[in-house]
Amino acid sequence: MFESNELVKKTKELVKIPSWEDEKEASKYVCDLVDGEIDEIGNVFASKGEGEKEIAFISHLDTVPPSNELEVYTENSRIFGRGAADMKGSLIAMALAFNKASPNQKLTFASFVGEETDARGVKHAVKNGFSPDYSIIGEGTANYSQKDKLDVCVAHRGRKEVEIETKGVSSHASQPEFGENAILEMFDVIKKIQNTEPPKEEVFGEEMKAGSCITQIESEGATNVVPDKCQITMDVRTIPNKNYDLEFGDKHRIVTDVLPMKTKNEELIKALERSVEKETGYSPNRIIKPQATDAGFLAENGSDTIILGPSEPTEPHSNNESVSIDILEDTYNVFLDLANNF
Ligand SMILES: [Zn+2]
Repeated sequence: MFESNELVKKTKELVKIPSWEDEKEASKYVCDLVDGEIDEIGNVFASKGEGEKEIAFISHLDTVPPSNELEVYTENSRIFGRGAADMKGSLIAMALAFNKASPNQKLTFASFVGEETDARGVKHAVKNGFSPDYSIIGEGTANYSQKDKLDVCVAHRGRKEVEIETKGVSSHASQPEFGENAILEMFDVIKKIQNTEPPKEEVFGEEMKAGSCITQIESEGATNVVPDKCQITMDVRTIPNKNYDLEFGDKHRIVTDVLPMKTKNEELIKALERSVEKETGYSPNRIIKPQATDAGFLAENGSDTIILGPSEPTEPHSNNESVSIDILEDTYNVFLDLANNF
């Protein structure tokens, strides 16, 4: 049986290293832990074992900034501190499982930079040929369908941030008929967006539906001038294999595009379900996560992706983020079993 002290100690050590602006120190810590290599932008890689197939444990090194000063402590069998849940606990579980495993295949540990911002770590890795056959992403799947238990995530939506601009013609606001009001043009655009039915798809019995939300609107100029420019920002949630085009207005710019994902390989799902059953005694359910992860980029590049990790949905990015030590231990055992038996 695994000595959980090591898991807790290393998680706390990594959480203590700030990695919301610069991941360098965290990269170094993780690289030393797995005896790996750091690429030119700070991603950490380590591999062991040989075989026809490559299975990869995927995590990220960065966190969002803490809401207050970074404090790290253990209380009520939980580890507290920014990144404990998203996702340094899971990263350490993956690293220690990687170190302990005797795989029959090639086993790779990869931890990326920039997941919380622009996904630059995973994009860089994929561009440079990182293409494992199977990718296990350690984002949270605990407390979804069953209290204090792990589920297996088989799909998630993607996220696009889109800016749309309308153009008009300025005139004196006392005689708006001489101009063209960009705000009124935007009204039409918003109506078109609202009238566009988001695509949906059934995934393992659950409905997955795209969606959009206008999150910002602005115009510029003096208050007595008909505005010649109006801009909205939209948060668009996408689903795999279905277009959801909202290319209205005079200018359309995609600021961020994090891809959706869906697990295609039934063998991989079953193997992970078996490991959870074996190590915990309960059966996990197949779930769809609301948030996008790095998985979409790996899936697009041909990797079979699946997600399992100790974080509960209430924890990531919350003011007082924490992770359960019991679930973290379960996660470690599941990763190790999968590495040795898949
Ligand atoms: Zn995360």
